[in-house]
Amino acid sequence: MKKLIITSISAGLLLATSFVSAEETLPLQAVNRAGEVIDAALEAYGGAEAIANLNSVARKSHFTTWATNQSRSPGPPWDENEQWNFAAIDFKNETFVGKNKGSGGGYDFNGSQVIKGDEGWQVSYRAGTVTQIAEPDFNTTSGPFIRVTAPLLVKQLQNRRQTSHWLGEVEFDGRPHDVITLVMEVGPALSLYFDKETHLLSRSERVLPPFGQVDYRFTNYETVDGIPFSKTFKLYVNDQPNIYIDIKSTKVNQPIEKYAAVPEDLKLVEAAPPQPTEVELQEVKEGIFLVGAAGTYAMFVEMDDHVVAVGGTAGIPERIKALREVVEDKPIKFGVMTHHHNDHVLGVPAYQAEDAMVLTVKEHEPVMRAAATDADSLKLQFVEDKYVFDDGSRKLEIIDIGPTPHSEHLLVAWLPEEGILFEADHFPNPTNGQMAPAQPVTKRLAEAIKEKGLDVKLIVGAHSPRVASIDDLHRALQLSPVKVAQISP
Ligand SMILES: [Zn+2]
Repeated sequence: MKKLIITSISAGLLLATSFVSAEETLPLQAVNRAGEVIDAALEAYGGAEAIANLNSVARKSHFTTWATNQSRSPGPPWDENEQWNFAAIDFKNETFVGKNKGSGGGYDFNGSQVIKGDEGWQVSYRAGTVTQIAEPDFNTTSGPFIRVTAPLLVKQLQNRRQTSHWLGEVEFDGRPHDVITLVMEVGPALSLYFDKETHLLSRSERVLPPFGQVDYRFTNYETVDGIPFSKTFKLYVNDQPNIYIDIKSTKVNQPIEKYAAVPEDLKLVEAAPPQPTEVELQEVKEGIFLVGAAGTYAMFVEMDDHVVAVGGTAGIPERIKALREVVEDKPIKFGVMTHHHNDHVLGVPAYQAEDAMVLTVKEHEPVMRAAATDADSLKLQFVEDKYVFDDGSRKLEIIDIGPTPHSEHLLVAWLPEEGILFEADHFPNPTNGQMAPAQPVTKRLAEAIKEKGLDVKLIVGAHSPRVASIDDLHRALQLSPVKVAQISP
């Protein structure tokens, strides 16, 4: 039966092919006009030969970023951060170097990624370590740099013109533009806006689930070695400013090997084993479960006649399902949301579906309601400083340790009898237990533990399958950030 259907489809295709005439169909027009736009763009960017010969680009830039739905407070204006970036690409040698230095959300970073063909390294200047990348991928790693560098997008169009369609003509910034598509080696298609008069790229757009519409603006063109590069760049996510880039220097067709050198004075360390991809359940202590996979974990605490769930990251329904294999009948009566960031409120609909009461602080109410399936019927319990569950046999405290450099309010779960603390986003805990110098957020967590007088023995978190000891926290606090390497090569 199946075979018959396939046969009839291919017969249909054959038939259709024979009916295509010289007349310009919509798809044919889309391909032809895209070709015209690409040719005009190549001309505007210094000519087809110049773009074909554009083999390496090195740029230093200053980034201003906005932490949309990831700021200390729940609404705009979003926290503004800055960072320095250096990126260099060499297509023939499939070499890419990307360095980043800055801070945001209570984290400092200073590191780089180096890809040389099928070898790659992750460098943390802050921790003073180098880690070999298991599966280096030149296309994936260099993609973000190509997407913000107009001549490199034009080079992509030159090499991949068969992927391009003309979508139409639109007004942008008061000027008529042609919009054509580009499908890069990795990721969803881009729609590129070329000015009909200058033939330069003004804008690029793509839809990136789950973030939504990502919109790139290329401004302030300046010619470098006969090729126009935009000196400033803006990225919007769902119409909200996300990144502003001010390019400080651009070098074209110069060797980049010296930038791609892996620092020899840093310690080579083994990469942490990847996190499990299938949901795993760990019983940390009797009736206390850490359940999750792939970077998102929740803690379930068994009380006398119900369960309290802590954490709202991705995949709560699957984590509840895994819990049900060991705790079959007790209802989940409470779901504790650690904070308001968009990756930590995904569990709200899942707890609502369980008919659970969601615990949060009053200030985060609008975010919780917005995340719910039905905003009005969401049951909320506000935590003021502390909320205590005590059924006579087990005590569980929900404590607001805010403000922290990450969030004005942050709820942690504390089991005083067992000495177990659950936290989110304040204590990076790699699978191999290899601690890096404590981040500002971690220092604040340690302070709060002291202030509240918590005799912590074990720490579990929203992003790691590893149960950490209090010694791990102390080790991170004892390590100092290594003072090496400027962002400038
Ligand atoms: Zn967060």
